[in-house]
Formats: sequence, C-alpha cells, structure tokens
Amino acid sequence: MRLWGDIAVNGCNGRAAVHELSLIQSLINMVVKSAIENNIKKVTKVQLVVGEYHGVLPESLEFAFGILTEGTVCAGSELAIEKSALLLKCRKCAHEFHPDGYLYTCPICTAVNAELVKGRELYVHYYEGE
Ligand SMILES: [Zn+2]
Repeated sequence: MRLWGDIAVNGCNGRAAVHELSLIQSLINMVVKSAIENNIKKVTKVQLVVGEYHGVLPESLEFAFGILTEGTVCAGSELAIEKSALLLKCRKCAHEFHPDGYLYTCPICTAVNAELVKGRELYVHYYEGE
C-alpha cells in the first residue's frame, strides 16, 4: 500500500543540522500518525524530498532516521532520499540559474540579487506500508 500526501513541515528556513533533525523528527511523527490512522502495521519505505539548500548529507539523514524511528511503526523501513536542486532567479534580469557553490551571482548580468525559486523543500513525498 502506498500513500501519497506530500506531508510537509512549515518553517524550514535554517541551515543548522540540528534544525533539520527536528524537522526529520516532525516528519516521522506525521508518518507515524498517518500510518496509525490508515491502519498500517508496518511502514516499509519513506520517500523524502530534500532541497539542496539544507545542505544535509544523506548519510546523516539515514543515521538520524534509523535512531528516530526506533520503536515506532517506521522502525526498519527504508529511507529513500530524492534531492531537489537549487534554482535561483535574478531579480534584475529574471534569469534562472543554479548557483555555483555559495556564489549567488547571476551568470548573465552579474548582479548579486537573486531569490530562491526551488531547493528549500523538505517533505515526505510518500510512504509505503502494509
Ligand atoms: Zn541577472
């Protein structure tokens, strides 16, 4: 059984790993709650979408996931991570680009005035269970 839901959390605008960990905890709590509501005895897979902006390593996410799901309906489930690349838009010339490292300089007009279009996501795309 696969459940779609785009379970998202609000307020993810920090870069600190600790902040991401608390978000992972909230996401797990939501999956656990949803699984119980849907009478799912065991969650087998959780598909996560993580924006590049967060800069978290998949290994540390997997590690945290393993610990935080212990003793829950999600224990032992597979964590699949889908990365969402950063996309910026220049406020001056409206060009959209992927930044080179931490340089947010527009490659067309060289303005350093870009807004984030994509890459800040952190949510559960879907999860599977039985
Ligand atoms: Zn530009």
